[in-house]
Amino acid sequence: MQVLHICTEIYPLLKTGGLADVTAALPPALATLGVDVRMLIPGFPAICSGLNQRQLVAVLPGRFGADAIRLTLSVLPNGILAYVIEAPALYDRPGNPYVDASGVSYPDNYRRFALLGWVGAQLAAGLDPSWRAEICHAHDWHAGLCAAYLKAARLKAGPGRENMTRAGSVLTIHNLAFQGLFPPEVMAELDLPADFYDMHGMEFYGQVSFLKAGLFYSDKLTTVSPSYAREIQEPLQGCGLQGLLAARATDLTGILNGVDATIWHPATDPAIPCRYDQASLHDKQRCRAGLQGEAGIAQQSRAPLFGVVSRLSDQKGLHLVLHGISELLAQGAQLIVLGEGEPELIAAFRQFALAHPTSVAITVGYDEGKAHRMIAGCDVLLVPSRFEPCGLTQLYALAYGTLPLVRRVGGLADSVVDCTPENLISDLATGFVFDEFNEAAFISTLQRACRMFNQKNVWLAMQQCAMRQSFNWTASAVQLLPIYRQLIF
Ligand code: ADP
Repeated sequence: MQVLHICTEIYPLLKTGGLADVTAALPPALATLGVDVRMLIPGFPAICSGLNQRQLVAVLPGRFGADAIRLTLSVLPNGILAYVIEAPALYDRPGNPYVDASGVSYPDNYRRFALLGWVGAQLAAGLDPSWRAEICHAHDWHAGLCAAYLKAARLKAGPGRENMTRAGSVLTIHNLAFQGLFPPEVMAELDLPADFYDMHGMEFYGQVSFLKAGLFYSDKLTTVSPSYAREIQEPLQGCGLQGLLAARATDLTGILNGVDATIWHPATDPAIPCRYDQASLHDKQRCRAGLQGEAGIAQQSRAPLFGVVSRLSDQKGLHLVLHGISELLAQGAQLIVLGEGEPELIAAFRQFALAHPTSVAITVGYDEGKAHRMIAGCDVLLVPSRFEPCGLTQLYALAYGTLPLVRRVGGLADSVVDCTPENLISDLATGFVFDEFNEAAFISTLQRACRMFNQKNVWLAMQQCAMRQSFNWTASAVQLLPIYRQLIF
């Protein structure tokens, strides 16, 4: 079974969020199960400089605004083979792959990501004579057009000859809120049949939607947790696409993401000051003290140390955290924030840090090592998201015996078990969960966490239970196999 994963980020070469962790870990898990998996990724600077042994596969004539296009093949750090689209006019830009230095989306993003989907479809049609994709598995809107190009090729082949161009297509939704919307005029440049611009196609309220193209034309859809798969079929979380998703419910599967234990495990993590496991959980204290020192806050152990490792965006519910800080301070607790994003949120956290330097700290920016030290050193990780397709940080926290405090939504609901009396008695509790997205619910859950912190034996039992959880990638890959099998002819 030859499966091509099409994406824009792969850890450790290029990462802006959880997508990169998924695309680095899922393909090797599939390979272990016998899938012949390869990747396709644009030749962004971080990708090209991270892969120096690139073997030429094809030279393509100019397209989508790129004058010269080379397709090369390399081995990723995880051992998986990756095709790289070298089109400097489109991809050779510094920094973030999607936006310019001032945070504005590149105006030619429709061309940049049309090329990605188009090359994916070409790899299903024999562009590389030595390897043909039988299934194109696209990740998020950036790769959404691949299914449309496959569909267009099938239509062009005509009745009875569709199988000649038959490759299965899968789209994984990592976040429905990012849709790849462009004005209708771009349709003329996409090299797709004009009638694909239709309500029953890739038109979305008068715009071209790359995500909708993927949702409409892909044979199968997956998303990153069972709860999110249900939630996006409803208006509240459906981002206007709930009707289409509900209509495709039988093709939509929610599969929870996993944890790559070669990168996220407290017994082997090179980024943390002291390694530990379930049997040596007391050593976690040294990670805690190290983190307090690094953040410049007081070395106290009387009350819990809360942490946030997150994009600072409205999705993540961080205004709830801001509202909770006074309560944290009243309890003698501390808060460290690591993140980058909305300036208003950064300014608000900074103000608290200035006013309470021994209790609150914020690091603005992206720091992989610090993310590990936070996950290891905090007592509680706060993830009070408005919506959360899966969420990876709470899975990492569980693995490190750091108890997540989360809202019961999406993948957070599927991965954290609240410490109700029943769950505590049954030794199932792994964290703190609240339902309503409001300050009162959040603050009362903070108070619960602070109270629980003083019950040392109960806390330890919850940490042990959290660390026993196994959210591994093999389990996710196993659930993908039957979906792939349905697409192989
Ligand atoms: P999302 O993909 O919505 O941003 P996830 O929880 O799925 O959220 O994944 C976030 C990933 O990005 C995790 O690996 C987390 O550790 C990492 N991360 C988030 N913010 C930072 C940061 N400021 N520095 C380092 N890593 C970060």
